[in-house]
Formats: sequence, C-alpha cells, structure tokens
Amino acid sequence: MIVIGGGLAGLSAGVALAEAGWRVRLFEQRPFLGGRATSYVLPDGEHVDNCQHVTLGCCTNLEDFYRRVGSAGKIKFFDRLLFQDPQGRTGEMEAGMLPAPFHMTGSFASFAPLTLADKRSVARAMLDILRAKGHTPDLDVPGGISMLQWLKRRRQTLGAIERFWRVVLVSALDEELDRTDARFGVDVFWKAFLSNRSGYRMGVPAVPLAELYDGCKTEIEKRGGEVNLRMPVRAIRVEGGAVQNVEFDGGRFETADAYVFALPHQAMAELTDEEMKRCEPGLANLEKIGAAPITGVHFWFDREVMHEPFVTLLDTTTQWIFNKTALYGGSNGTVKQSGQYLQLVISASYDLLQKSRQEIIDLCLREVQQALPAARDAKLLKATVIKEAAATFSPQPGVDLLRPKQETKIRRMFLAGDWTDTGWPATMEGAVRSGYLAAEAVLRSAGTPRAFLQPDLPPDGLVAWLV
Ligand SMILES: Cc1cc2nc3c(=O)[nH]c(=O)nc-3n(C[C@H](O)[C@H](O)[C@H](O)COP(=O)(O)OP(=O)(O)OC[C@H]3O[C@@H](n4cnc5c(N)ncnc54)[C@H](O)[C@@H]3O)c2cc1C
Repeated sequence: MIVIGGGLAGLSAGVALAEAGWRVRLFEQRPFLGGRATSYVLPDGEHVDNCQHVTLGCCTNLEDFYRRVGSAGKIKFFDRLLFQDPQGRTGEMEAGMLPAPFHMTGSFASFAPLTLADKRSVARAMLDILRAKGHTPDLDVPGGISMLQWLKRRRQTLGAIERFWRVVLVSALDEELDRTDARFGVDVFWKAFLSNRSGYRMGVPAVPLAELYDGCKTEIEKRGGEVNLRMPVRAIRVEGGAVQNVEFDGGRFETADAYVFALPHQAMAELTDEEMKRCEPGLANLEKIGAAPITGVHFWFDREVMHEPFVTLLDTTTQWIFNKTALYGGSNGTVKQSGQYLQLVISASYDLLQKSRQEIIDLCLREVQQALPAARDAKLLKATVIKEAAATFSPQPGVDLLRPKQETKIRRMFLAGDWTDTGWPATMEGAVRSGYLAAEAVLRSAGTPRAFLQPDLPPDGLVAWLV
C-alpha cells in the first residue's frame, strides 16, 4: 500500500490502513510531516506554526485521529470565546445553564458589540436554521447560493453581518461571505453553535503543530510500514485503466496493490494527464477549484502584554490574537518567560497579498497596540509574517460539484485531501475525514470492509427532541 502525501489526509489514511493490517509505505516531499498544519524551526531555534490552527468540539474525526496517534492530550479545549472591538467593548460566547439550542442565549444577550436590532436579526436567522434542522430549503438551489445572499434574504442588519456572521465565518471557512456557499456557513452554526452544547468548544494545540504527528510514524512502522521524507512523487503511470506505478527522482519506481494520493488539489492536478482525466472525469475538475489565502503574523515582545489565551478582534484587519506563550506554557494564562510570543491570524487575507512584510507588521502592530494597552510600552523584539496564498480551497458556491470521491474509476487509485468530497470545508477535520473515507474505500475494494468515519456529535438538549 502506498500513500503519497504526509498531511493530515495521508497520515489518517495511512494510520487507519496500518491498523487494518496493511503494510503502508508513505512518501512525503518535505522533510517533515503535517502538510499545511505543521510547524518548523526558525534559524534562531524558535518553533513556529505554519499558522495557528484550531479545532472545534464538533470535529469528531480529528479528535479520533489525535486519540489514535496519542496526541489527544496535546490539545487544550476552551469553553469561553472572547471578542473585542476598537472601542474596547467586549463580548463572550460561552454555554450557560440552558439546554441546546438556548445554551448561548445568556452570553449572546449581553454581547456588547452588537445592538439590539443586530441581535434580533441574528436570532431570527438562527431560528430559521433550527426550524430547518440545519438545512434551509434555499440551500438546494442548483449551483448553490452565497452566504451573503442567504443573509440578505433574512434581512440581517449591517452590524449583524459585519460583527457576527462575517467574524465567525471568515475564520471558520477562510473566505468572504459573497464567495462562500451558504451550505457551509449554515452548517457551521448548526453543528458548532445550535445542535449541541459542546460543538463550539475551541481546541488549541499546546505544542508546536509538528509534535502532534510524532505517533503517526510509530503507528505505521510498528505494522511493518515506513515513512519516507524528502521523497516527491514526479509521475503517476496509468495504463489499462489502472495505476501501474509511481515515479520518484533518479528514475526510481514503486508499485503497490493500492495507492492513496493525499496531495493538495493543485499538486494532484499537476500529476494528472489526459488519460487519467478520461478514465476518471472527477480529475478533470481540479483546476476549477479555487484557493483562498491566510496570513499569519508572529510577534515577540519583551514583556507580557496579554493575559487571555486568545481574543477575536472586530472591525480590524487582524482577526485573532493567540497568546502562544500561555498556550504552550502550562495552564491557561500562565506565562513562563518574561517576554511574550503572540500569533495573529488573518483569514481570506486577499488585501495583504500585495503588501510588503513591513507594511503588514506596521498595520498589525498598530492594531495590537490598540487592543492591548500593555503592548504600547513594550518593545517588539522580533516579527515574522507567513503569507499562504493558497491556504485552503475556496468554498465558493457550487464547489461540492467539483470535488471528486475518494474511490475513483481508475483501479488501485484512491484520493484523499481536504478538497475531496467530504461534505466539510477545508479544515483539519475535512482532511481526516477524507483519509478515513479513502481507507474505507481501499478496504471495500479489497473485500475486507471496515468503518473508520466517526459520527457527528449527536444533537442534545431540546434539539434532540426536535430532530
Ligand atoms: C495558514 C493556514 C491556516 C489554517 N488554519 C486552520 C485551522 O485553524 N483549523 C483547521 O481545521 N484548518 C486550518 N487550515 C486548513 C488545514 O491546514 C488543511 O485543511 C489541512 O491541513 C489539509 O490537509 P491535507 O492532508 O488535505 O493537505 P496538506 O496538508 O496540504 O498535505 C498534502 C501533503 O502532500 C505533500 N506533497 C505535495 N506534493 C507532493 C508530491 N509530489 N510528492 C509527495 N508529497 C507531496 C505536501 O508536502 C503535504 O505534506 C489552515 C490552513 C492554512 C494553510
């Protein structure tokens, strides 16, 4: 069994197949595992994440994967999400005493950055999602409708759109509301905020991302498999409707009974020739799937400037500030060293792509100083900007029609990757789902079916009676 790609999709497929008794040989082009959700070491020895990654309570497959590879204990979950606007008004989202779907009512009612009219309009739209059990009929329009259209049909106020829907969804889906299929947006609110009490809980890694994958190599190797780094696949040979082999540098060929290609969709498109597109029409659409950017900004201050583990900013370019020192340093809010390391995240960061590194640092520093008064007197010791122009696939309306299944019409070829047909947007959860689905497809085709995919969180509270 050969798996190409050592991101979450390839790793989850590889670990699942190893568990099912297959000898897995995984090939990754880079010198480390984790793909887009990884970390590396700067020349001065500092570990930095490619970008801060977070998960939510509703990401049941990612949680299962972390458990399988012994990393579940490296994720810290938080029940309270904090928001702050430039005027210093704050709001929280935290489950109170009431059962779902009313568990957020208390914190929402006192959410200072929204006016009463904003809150009324949000409540109306939420009721609509609830009544439709997470799937309003207008989501089924052929080709999809955008989230902005969906919100306008429900007469959402400008404040509600800018300071509530946009804030949550641009972070969750990495795209602007007018370019997002409403199906994904409505799903976020149904699965994370309405259908049960714990779907919204935010999980943040307490270690640099690459450390989450230490157990994967062990799981694959202890069943006779191998993990090969710095091994880019250069070509896939398909003949007679079946994969014959894959080619590496130096004219090396490898063959297997089955191949899982767990590459980003752009890399898969580069390896796809006309013969493959003819055999598997799903591969002909890869170039039509768009990409969206994320920018991460890393600041190291000479002193502590922030107590909270993270905060969401409203009405600014900077969307999130993560207190990495606290998140790495033990219990919530504890700072080990005298200085402090913060990581800022800007999703759908189209406006920053043309800006220079220094322009981005200046802009974000001003916003941090406005949000965190202690940063005004602090010295910025070091800063790094990481622009990912193609961070995720763009969840554009109708994109699901372009996403191929994990099982293909080419014998021995299986696909994985957040962009394959998982029903989920480009997330770590989506990547793991695709890996599990690919492993299930391999086992089905070998006549030894087995299930890996985990069910969604079940609705609880009053919602359990409704659905
Ligand atoms: C900046 C940023 C922030 C994000 N934030 C979040 C977040 O907070 N929460 C969340 O859930 N998701 C987040 N995501 C999305 C998440 O990282 C991805 O959805 C997920 O990691 C994709 O996993 P994958 O395995 O499908 O693809 P990838 O991680 O891209 O893995 C593909 C692998 O294939 C390898 N490869 C490519 N070509 C070849 C070749 N020819 N031969 C061999 N190997 C090859 C690559 O090196 C890579 O390791 C973020 C993504 C980015 C970029």
